[in-house]
Amino acid sequence: MIQYDLHCHSTYSDGVLPPGDVVRRAAAHGVDVLALTDHDELQGLGEARAAAAEEAIELIPGSELSVTWERHTLHVVAVRIDPKNEGLREGLAAIRVGRDARAQKIADSLREAGIPDALDGARKYVTSDRLISRTHFARFLAETGHVRDVHDAFKRYLVAGKPGYVPHSWAALAEAIGWIRGAGGQAILAHPGRYAISNRDMRRLLGEFRDSGGEAIEVVSSSHTPAQFIEYATYARAFGLKGSCGSDFHAPGESWMEFGDLPPLPVGVEPVWSTW
Ligand code: AMP
Ligand code: MN
Ligand code: MN
Ligand code: MN
Repeated sequence: MIQYDLHCHSTYSDGVLPPGDVVRRAAAHGVDVLALTDHDELQGLGEARAAAAEEAIELIPGSELSVTWERHTLHVVAVRIDPKNEGLREGLAAIRVGRDARAQKIADSLREAGIPDALDGARKYVTSDRLISRTHFARFLAETGHVRDVHDAFKRYLVAGKPGYVPHSWAALAEAIGWIRGAGGQAILAHPGRYAISNRDMRRLLGEFRDSGGEAIEVVSSSHTPAQFIEYATYARAFGLKGSCGSDFHAPGESWMEFGDLPPLPVGVEPVWSTW
């Protein structure tokens, strides 16, 4: 059985390993086909491709796009995109704009909650000057003892309704899918089980996603429980969408699943790679 993992991060976004180490780690854990999907970024793909050639595994060029749909932030994983495509590159640059200003506002909000110097603190964890993420703030909060771990940082800070949360407007859904398709790629709705959304709105979202050219949803993800693997397999079939799987690996010990630990897609879901 070929092992696919179509979602992970490197130091070009909020992962802690450079792309070459990500690829070598995935290969060592039995992954055969790996998509590197840094947030709103393509810069790591060259290094990943070189390492994949050495390891004799297949590297799929990808990215994870930040999207605002109604009042929700969604993530759309792009796979098999042409990294040189200008439309996609400009789109991603447009999404990245605003991250620095948001980071300043996050730090201001944390200061009001009694946590000073969070911007300098978070910057110590930033590994690409093009991308500062809430994850970098979470690592700062954990390392300085304000919270137990990164997960706790997101529970107590950085999410809607908590100190350190700053609303932000990312790309529109149809726009992001358009950039992905324009670059020859396929759009996958990432970890649908993570969105705080009613069943009714989930159905609306999936209909809109499919009608805008979306191809698949992540069924097997470290963000999902085994019950959610089944739930989203059922959604995929009902909406004529394919299924995908990805660890969403960010850092050793930090993510819920290690490379190679993904269970197979539930029976009856057409894999997003069925036509590759
Ligand atoms: P940003 O794109 O800067 O808003 O940051 C989003 C990132 O924060 C996600 O890609 C995850 O890596 C991380 N994240 C969000 N929620 C959580 C959570 N509950 N636990 C751990 N990491 C999270
Ligand atoms: Mn992330
Ligand atoms: Mn995500
Ligand atoms: Mn991710």
